[in-house]
Amino acid sequence: MINDIPKIDLHCHLDGSVRPETIIELAKKHNIEIPSYEKGTIMKFLVAPADCKSLVDYLKVFDIPKKVMQTEDALRRITFELYEDAAKENVKYMEVRFAPMMHTFKGLALNEVIESVVKGVKDAEEKYDIRGSIILCCMRNQSEDDAFKVIEAGREFLGKGVAAIDLCAAELDNFCDKFERAAKYAKSIGYRITIHAGETGVGINVYDAVTKLAAERIGHGVYIKDCDKAYKIVKENNITLEMCPTSNVQTKAVHSIEEHPFKKFYDNGIKVTVNTDNRTVSNTDMLKECRILFDDFKLSNDDYRKIYLNSVNAAFADDKTKEWLLTF
Ligand SMILES: [Zn+2]
Repeated sequence: MINDIPKIDLHCHLDGSVRPETIIELAKKHNIEIPSYEKGTIMKFLVAPADCKSLVDYLKVFDIPKKVMQTEDALRRITFELYEDAAKENVKYMEVRFAPMMHTFKGLALNEVIESVVKGVKDAEEKYDIRGSIILCCMRNQSEDDAFKVIEAGREFLGKGVAAIDLCAAELDNFCDKFERAAKYAKSIGYRITIHAGETGVGINVYDAVTKLAAERIGHGVYIKDCDKAYKIVKENNITLEMCPTSNVQTKAVHSIEEHPFKKFYDNGIKVTVNTDNRTVSNTDMLKECRILFDDFKLSNDDYRKIYLNSVNAAFADDKTKEWLLTF
């Protein structure tokens, strides 16, 4: 039954979702040094340890995949394979996000990076019953100027594969102020906006992301549970939360699945959705995440339908795609 239900993944990072086999193959082909060329061993370096101390600790694992994601061919292939894997889980629509700046270390221009990923999505759309959109991540630890560069580079792909911007990397207090102008500009030229916020302890960041950056969706948002102001604005403005249960346990956003606020938020009318975050790093997929909804959060099929519809409504997809998603 889990296999058959239609699924939507709105929060999935490209560099956290690379097949280990592909990392080994690309590393060999391009003479790139990685800790091991054997699948069982390299997995130990690619999957975040269960005893991660924090989000910062969790983010360290991304260094290896980034090493092999510096050419057009590699980016296109990795994107295609991610959509291929998702299609096999009956994911009908997936938004994949990545930070273009992290793929320019061997000379690719930002627009070349973005174009390669867009091509990978198209390749998969032609072959499988799945649709996709791309979200461009600006890094919170980089400058506002860098954010503008990413926004400009993605502009020519808006409506042609690219749909939105995001801010990611480690979460600091008051990170929103630095990116207010960039977010306003992105919105004015047609980008949709989702922001990682309230993932690890700072609930008020969610309030700021909505009021200062015009976020329509929030990545995670776990910590609105401890911040009335943020909780209220999310509920009243119908802001959708992209929740990723397995990842939230790994990053210590919550101590265990039992403590996850997903069900409570759902019961209180918050627009929650379920997503993977990082398939390889979190050793998960949409089958596992959906199983958590049924087995741990004790949701019914009707509940699942409502969550699926939350995802359809919040998707940064065109009307035609949304209509198609409602046929499942
Ligand atoms: Zn994320």
